[in-house]
Amino acid sequence: MEGKEFFLNDEVEMKKPHPCGTNRWKIIRMGADIRIKCMGCQHSVLIPRRDFVKKMKKVLVSNQE
Ligand SMILES: [Zn+2]
Repeated sequence: MEGKEFFLNDEVEMKKPHPCGTNRWKIIRMGADIRIKCMGCQHSVLIPRRDFVKKMKKVLVSNQE
């Protein structure tokens, strides 16, 4: 989606929460793939950028100045 901006170290909410019950993720790597880490259990997952854009609901804390 156009206008959905995200940056390294942003905290985001996904459309589906992690099975641990937390729906708060931190972007820890940016590239063709995005690595996000669950803030609840520290589990991290690597997602292709286009899938991340589709699955991300909103940015909770933006790291953009
Ligand atoms: Zn988790």
